[in-house]
Amino acid sequence: MNGQIDNYRFKGLRQQLVSSIRAKGIRNERILKAMLDIPRHCFLDEAFAEWAYKDTAFPISSGQTISQPFTVARQTELLEVRKGDKILEVGTGSGYQACVLAALGAKVYTVERHEELFMKTAKLLPTIGFNQVRTLLGDGYEGAERFAPFDKILVTAACNLIPKTLVHQLKDGGIMVIPVGNGEDQQMLKLAKHGEQIEIKEHGHYRFVPMLGGVATHA
Ligand code: SAH
Repeated sequence: MNGQIDNYRFKGLRQQLVSSIRAKGIRNERILKAMLDIPRHCFLDEAFAEWAYKDTAFPISSGQTISQPFTVARQTELLEVRKGDKILEVGTGSGYQACVLAALGAKVYTVERHEELFMKTAKLLPTIGFNQVRTLLGDGYEGAERFAPFDKILVTAACNLIPKTLVHQLKDGGIMVIPVGNGEDQQMLKLAKHGEQIEIKEHGHYRFVPMLGGVATHA
């Protein structure tokens, strides 16, 4: 394979992908630029590189999926990422979403429960220029107490309830974006924390793989 021709071809496919995401309503140019720059094919097994640039979720190892690019863009948009934000992502998976956040200038901590996937992604990120993303192995229901509080928290697996621990680890004035619901249908929630008050807004239906493990307690 000729790497340079490949890079050129993938860049073209990325431009098409970003155009389709823009057409679906994402207008934040910083997010679109990040997605234009990040080589999404590197997050899939090589044989499936072409699939990286279709706007669809796709299986990665360990029975998990890399989120649909539109969903990545939408969750990122809802999170209102600012340069320097300290963000916790729950559900590292392939690491693609974490890299999109990092490309926007956030300081990213991402936690994955599946050890094999954690190892694979922790190894991959420095090879594609994202050594600043902090990958953690653990149960996302517990958040990452050691590094809390966070300006933003992004959950990329479906929760039955809003985990109380995560709300605690959010700064006052912070935002959490989390898909909540059973089975195959989740409502995308955006929580804004104002002291003891939590404002919750619904942002439409999505379908995520479930959060596994710990028992969530209501916030
Ligand atoms: N953000 C990912 C896609 C996430 S898919 C990406 O960009 O590719 C959801 C991920 O959540 C899976 O990798 C799954 O293993 C992980 N997960 C499920 N339950 C978890 C838990 N309790 N704690 C941390 N990660 C969890």
